Amino acid sequence: DLYNKVIELKGNIRVFCRCRPLNTEEITGGTSMVVDFESAKDGELIVKGHVSSSKAFKFDSVFSPEDDQETVFQKTAPFATSVLDGYNVCIFAYGQTGTGKTFTMEGNEEARGVNYRTLEEIFRVIRERQGLYHYEVTVSVLEVYNEQIHDLLLSGSQPSAAAKKLEVRQVTEGVHHVPGLVEAHVTNMNEAWEVLQTGSKARVVGSTNANEHSSRSHCIHCVMIRGENLVNGECTRSKLWLIDLAGSERVAKTDAQGERLKEAQNINKSLSALGNVISALATKSPHVPFRNSKLTHLLQDSLGGDSKTLMFVQISPNEDDVGETLCSLNFASRVR
Ligand code: ADP
Ligand code: MG
Repeated sequence: DLYNKVIELKGNIRVFCRCRPLNTEEITGGTSMVVDFESAKDGELIVKGHVSSSKAFKFDSVFSPEDDQETVFQKTAPFATSVLDGYNVCIFAYGQTGTGKTFTMEGNEEARGVNYRTLEEIFRVIRERQGLYHYEVTVSVLEVYNEQIHDLLLSGSQPSAAAKKLEVRQVTEGVHHVPGLVEAHVTNMNEAWEVLQTGSKARVVGSTNANEHSSRSHCIHCVMIRGENLVNGECTRSKLWLIDLAGSERVAKTDAQGERLKEAQNINKSLSALGNVISALATKSPHVPFRNSKLTHLLQDSLGGDSKTLMFVQISPNEDDVGETLCSLNFASRVR
């Protein structure tokens, strides 16, 4: 595919930055935008300085508040669909709570996000290749919360199993597996979407405050593809991971105690482990510290090698958020 050739030439790690629009309260409150998109076409983003000087950041793509879901997906699709050519792919949404991670990945009924559009595109390409390739698709829905992996399809069907922790096991060199993980076989978009919705519902049911819980856990959809080239008999197995990460905001030490402190520490640990792994891969470091968090351990086979990684760094345009915005942009610059 032309798509993949272009990506390979440019390397396997891509960072996109997306800024949400100001919301109604911010507009009525007279908040000003602290982010400048004049050079967004060239992948440049400027955070306007107030106290200190302005700072410029460079990304593979920059999406301003005016860019819609379709525009974002146009740039994402080549990555996502390369799973059908045997590539492992990880797509992450990173950023402070409220910056649009879930909007980008899940979206809503009026404005579908990357997850929905990707599945639709996968099934479209499968139909297009009928007769040349045979594909089998399975999906899983997991959550990593407090450094524990939970299977949301399992807990959806049997509530008592919700507490069951899953572990990552190495099967053979370079092959990791999560024993007991539910992998639902799906043959079309409707079936696939239904399974993913079941997972999302289980996530909400299991928590007292759905919004808070979702900002403190990593929500993970995995699409596994087995492909057979009917012409030469060649078989491939690959995985596409779609990940809505926990909020990256720093919690004031004075605000966090007990359970909340533990959550904050675990989020911090896994996000920095992820940053360290991706930057080790980007700089071709001989040691990649996959084992430092459940998330990176889970994704080990799909990060590095000829796998493709796409990170959405989500930011707020609000000047009150500028501290967190700079932290997120710095994190992103480090992994690029
Ligand atoms: P997060 O998952 O990072 O906490 P959300 O995805 O829940 O953030 O977004 C917070 C709010 O902002 C939601 O109401 C969402 O619909 C809205 N929003 C985020 N990004 C966009 C966007 N690009 N366009 C329109 N609305 C957006
Ligand atoms: Mg969210």
